[in-house]
Amino acid sequence: MSEQEKHSSRLGILGGLVRGLSGMLSRARADAQPPDPAEPEVICCDGVVHIAYRGLSDDHLYLAYRRKWTEVKFFKQRNLRVFCAGCRQRLL
Ligand SMILES: [Zn+2]
Repeated sequence: MSEQEKHSSRLGILGGLVRGLSGMLSRARADAQPPDPAEPEVICCDGVVHIAYRGLSDDHLYLAYRRKWTEVKFFKQRNLRVFCAGCRQRLL
């Protein structure tokens, strides 16, 4: 096998890998269901979320990083926004 052939076959493997990965990602997106209220424990990636909320007395934006999805219910502040810590998808 010549250097040129080795190079192109390596590129072929890499290209296949990238195509496989992006195929997996787009399939995961397509399979993503809206959160089932009956099972809030398992949501999106690991159930780890970032929570952004406005203070009740002030209007500051607060951020709570790497909270469990189950902790979201303890945040009663208005304008609650919840993002998945894994893929940054907005969940709430
Ligand atoms: Zn996620």
